[in-house]
Amino acid sequence: MRKNIVAGNWKMNTTLPEGIKLAEEVNAALAGEAPKCDVVICVPFTHLASINNVIDKNKLGLGAENCADHRSGAYTGEVSAPMVASTGATYVILGHSERRQYYGETSETLREKVRLALDNNLTPIFCIGEVLEQREDGSYFEVVKAQLEEGLFNLDAEEFGKIVIAYEPVWAIGTGKTATDDQAQEIHAFIRKTIADKYGAEVADNTSILYGGSCKPSNAAQLFAKPDVDGGLIGGAALEAASFMGIVNAF
Ligand code: PGA
Repeated sequence: MRKNIVAGNWKMNTTLPEGIKLAEEVNAALAGEAPKCDVVICVPFTHLASINNVIDKNKLGLGAENCADHRSGAYTGEVSAPMVASTGATYVILGHSERRQYYGETSETLREKVRLALDNNLTPIFCIGEVLEQREDGSYFEVVKAQLEEGLFNLDAEEFGKIVIAYEPVWAIGTGKTATDDQAQEIHAFIRKTIADKYGAEVADNTSILYGGSCKPSNAAQLFAKPDVDGGLIGGAALEAASFMGIVNAF
């Protein structure tokens, strides 16, 4: 069954004490009635083990924001999927546009990362999305399709069933400019159809496709009301418990 998910992406924000405090606040806010979606926070590597100790994992999932494309070895400064999993984290964001853009991540590296994440029982939140120019010239369908095909379509259907997709138009990330609910629905439906063409309708129906890019409490309900929008990947608005919970409670 397809799940609704709201996942925070803290990016390179918060010191460890600040991060623990924020995680504790989100955790406390989830203590009451269960929300109508799964809730996950993806946090800096340095915070994973400590945050794992202060949250109720039955209510709040924990993830990393990246992992290495190698299992172990002489890769100074890298953090591997087994290391992430050993902290208690169960999710990992892969292929975020900032990593593709600033750190040169390609579909080839991402295939390795996805493989290692799955081997270590981490659920990849796999990000795809076009830049403004591609939105304006109409090539965004092709761009998103290629990112899916090149990054994920080497998986078999069972493996693909473990992936969460996050559609994040690069022009909407951190810009305050959100895709309209109709724009999100159009491309989410296209993504689901692309998955259906490859893996069949059942796999496509069961895939969670999150929207990301300036999602906030004031626009979340409208976006989440669309049939193919199964939640959000939240950057800026995840850095405050109240606004993050405002989005969680938009379901
Ligand atoms: P934003 O970031 O919500 O700050 O736009 C979303 C993301 O990059 O995941």
